[in-house]
Amino acid sequence: MAGIVRLARFRDRTRVFYAVLEDGEVAREVAGDPFAGDPFGAVEIASQETRATSGLEWLPPCRPSKIIGVGRNYRDHVAEMGHTAPAEPLLFLKPPSSLLPHRGVIRLPSDSQRVDFEGELGVVMGREARRVSEAHALDYVLGYACVNDVTARDLQVKDVQFTRAKGFDSFCPFGPCIAIGLEPDGLVVETLVNGRRRQSSPVSRMIFGIRRLISFASAVMTLLPGDLIATGTPEGVGALEPGDEVSVSIEGIGVLTSRVEKSGSPAAGHGGGESWPRHSCCC
Ligand code: MG
Repeated sequence: MAGIVRLARFRDRTRVFYAVLEDGEVAREVAGDPFAGDPFGAVEIASQETRATSGLEWLPPCRPSKIIGVGRNYRDHVAEMGHTAPAEPLLFLKPPSSLLPHRGVIRLPSDSQRVDFEGELGVVMGREARRVSEAHALDYVLGYACVNDVTARDLQVKDVQFTRAKGFDSFCPFGPCIAIGLEPDGLVVETLVNGRRRQSSPVSRMIFGIRRLISFASAVMTLLPGDLIATGTPEGVGALEPGDEVSVSIEGIGVLTSRVEKSGSPAAGHGGGESWPRHSCCC
């Protein structure tokens, strides 16, 4: 997969910065904030020195103004949930405060008895998009990431609409990076819980493909650089328990890993995310 740039964001003891991953363990710092200008411009490497990611805190690879989720977008998942396939994309929103970086902690809220993982391909927008055609939709995409659309299944059923079930803090693991220059159509989404494969599906099985989702969503709301579309989950969703380790893996992007703890337990802490509300928005 030559020519792919994997853009990540980190915090060390003094500041937040973007870096290009050399592999999972080493990164080179990028000059400035790629989202402050044109993220399609060449990513300028600031340092020839490499830094070990083990000494850095991972952050979500960008700060979306909104996270658009897509429900019931794989037939096998629709069947396992006992639903019927929608006639057009079923969109919902997750709040940016639900974002969780690679190696963060998913906190299980006390008012849910059933919290599920949903491994998904994330699409990160690179240009403002409004009413774009399917033919031109990918021209507006910066790159791709792994997403876990964590869902309180019992609250989703109880509430009917999705805001609470999908909106808790830590319910949107996102990362570990944005893979720029990746061809998306042949990708396979996999989810592992405690090392056991629970989901594995080519994204080509989506009912509504990436181009259709971007075109459809952009006819509803203007998509801004950094906005994230979680494209739906394939079959195999299941419950998370305290102590679990869940990973969403997509070849060419990487592995997004989260631990699971009860909310309020000392081990859960803040969840590894950034404080919220934030002082500024980079997107
Ligand atoms: Mg989902």
